[in-house]
This record gives sequence, structure tokens and C-alpha cells, in this order.
Amino acid sequence: MKMPAVSLLEWQKKFGSEEACAAELAKVRWPDGFFCPRCGSRKASYISTRHLYQCSKCRHQVSITAGTIFHATKISLVKWFWAIYLTASDKGGISALRLAKHLGVSWLTAYRMLRKIRMAMAHRDSIYRLKGFIELDDTYVGGKRSGKRGRGAEGKKPVLVAVEMHPDKGAGFTAMKAVETISHDTVQSFLTRKLLTGQKVKTDALPALTVVGTSQQHEKKITPPEEAAKWLPMVHVIIGNMKAFLTGTFHGVSLKYLQEYLDEFCYRFNRRFWEPELPMRLLNACLAHVPVTKAEFG
Ligand SMILES: [Zn+2]
Repeated sequence: MKMPAVSLLEWQKKFGSEEACAAELAKVRWPDGFFCPRCGSRKASYISTRHLYQCSKCRHQVSITAGTIFHATKISLVKWFWAIYLTASDKGGISALRLAKHLGVSWLTAYRMLRKIRMAMAHRDSIYRLKGFIELDDTYVGGKRSGKRGRGAEGKKPVLVAVEMHPDKGAGFTAMKAVETISHDTVQSFLTRKLLTGQKVKTDALPALTVVGTSQQHEKKITPPEEAAKWLPMVHVIIGNMKAFLTGTFHGVSLKYLQEYLDEFCYRFNRRFWEPELPMRLLNACLAHVPVTKAEFG
């Protein structure tokens, strides 16, 4: 679905008040207008300090932020909406420090907001499964030297990377997963979550990747490092882009939260042709109900 491109001034005009932002949330929750779950009344007033709609007839209160990334937030929705706009329009990904300055909040608050926005990004992409011709490889992130396996795994985290390869159009969608080890189990779980079954999947001949053959049409080839980029050209380009993204914007990422940054990279990469639409797309992803659990967000 095409989304409108919105300029900074238009955003300010559209989402300049708590009421306007709440109305946008309400549109997602009640596409046909407010509906009281207790008495069925269609009239309500908004209590902006608590992000609540109160039924005008029976006074029942409904939280407009329940089930979204804004749940239980003390930050104004206007600030949240700006965070979304700034995140979406900063090409390389905005840092918590920069966001904190723009919004007039503490670094920690900005950092937490960014984590939740990344969660919405991940949730959006989790719906999609890669298909067609796919290149799949592993890489290592962190430590003194990022690179392939075999350079000493100390302080590094393995990442599984898959990308759709269109013969004439180049790369399609990509998916990445940080794992503890590259094993049959982690590869299988990645395939199940991120790929449709029965696709054509190219890999090098790493033993842990033989499991690809159980659910996919697996093409594998033993490749010496200097030839790896010929056999799997696109996935190597993507891995290079991802590492530049991690070092450029975030100056090295704590490996504990690596997956969140990978999620942001993939979200942006997968929408690189729709850049002007990104603020509205990201807003939509954030307004949708995201399962926010303590396990996911400590
Ligand atoms: Zn009511």
C-alpha cells in the first residue's frame, strides 16, 4: 500500500497536539469511530494526561495506548510522534543522543524510545518470509575485527543473513538473526521464521548449513574466501552495508542488543525504495498493536 510522503512542516501541522496524535491511534483501534466496550455508546472525550478515552454515557475509560509501544508511557504522544518522524527520516538511523537533544528528554528516555521503535520495526518485518532465489551466509560482528568465521570468535557474535536475489532487479528483502552459535538448530529456526519453504537457497558448504536442504532447494558450493563474493555476491554486499551501518551511526554496538540494530537495518533496507513514505510507514507500524513483553523489553 502506498503511503503519503510527509514533510517536517506537514508533520508538525498534522501531529502538533496530543489530541491529534491520540486521534491517529484511535483511528487504528476504532476504524469506524469510538465504540464503548461496556455500553456501546459512540461518544467519548479524550483525557490527554492519561492517554484515555472516556465514554460520555457510562464514563468507562479505555486506554488508547494499551497493547502498543506507547503503553504506560509518561512521554507525550507529540514527542513520540516526533521520535518516529526523526527516526524514519534520518538515513543512517538516529542516535539516542541526537534524539534526546531534539526532543528535550534525557538520553536514557530517548534510548528507551528508540528501542521500542525498533521493536515495532522488527514486528513489521516478522510478518514477511523471503522467497524466490535466496543467498544465505553467516558473518561475525563485534570484537576487534568483524569478519568471517575462523578469525577467532572471541568477543564476536555470529549473524545469519539471507537476501532475496532478483536476476534483473538486484536485491529484494533481507533478514538477519544474531545467534549464539551457527548450528543446525539456529539455522533451522532462522529458516522457519524468515523463509518460505521450498525456495532456491544458495550457501557455501558450511556443515551447519546442510540443514537448509531439509526444507529448501539447497545449492551449496565450497568456496575459498577469495571466491565467496562470486558465489554469494548480494549477501556480501548486504553484510558490508550492515557493518557500515553499525559502525557509522552507533560506533560499535553492544552485542547484547545487536539484534535490535539488525532489525533496524533490515527494516530500512527493505524499504529503501520508499524513503519519502518512511515516516508514515513507521508511524503505522508503531500504531499497530505490538506484543510488548518483559522478556522482549527489559
Ligand atoms: Zn460506555
